[in-house]
Amino acid sequence: MSKKPSVYEQIIQKYPRVFTGGNTIELHNVGWVDIIDDVCSIINDELEHMPEELAQGIYASQIKTKFGGLRFYMSHSTPIIEGAIRMAEMISLRACEVCGNKGFPITIGSWTSTFCTKHRHQEEERVAAERIKWAKEELARQVEDSEDPK
Ligand SMILES: [Zn+2]
Repeated sequence: MSKKPSVYEQIIQKYPRVFTGGNTIELHNVGWVDIIDDVCSIINDELEHMPEELAQGIYASQIKTKFGGLRFYMSHSTPIIEGAIRMAEMISLRACEVCGNKGFPITIGSWTSTFCTKHRHQEEERVAAERIKWAKEELARQVEDSEDPK
């Protein structure tokens, strides 16, 4: 997680045209960093081949994850930008969001993410441990309530 700000900060600095809106990349994992780098590079090329007054109004407005996939929103778009983003979003559903290896979307608990086999197992273990912890705390609360009638 400590890797997150620096890799995304590098992308934002590498493509200042794409990030003129001052937005950050709202992702907690770094597995899609190459996908984001590629799509930003395509958008950057497109903006460079456009009249300046048009290019100025086109920038990334939000980059986040939704239903296990990348979501890349722009203030305005062109067919090339639209196509590049669609492609990146579809590729993200095939790449682990933690490490970038081959992955697929899976719902664990109430949250859908795209993981490789290794990171899916890690997440399943984390969620299971959290449930056990919650159940123990709940049990402790019930015991406390029964010992302390009011
Ligand atoms: Zn992985």
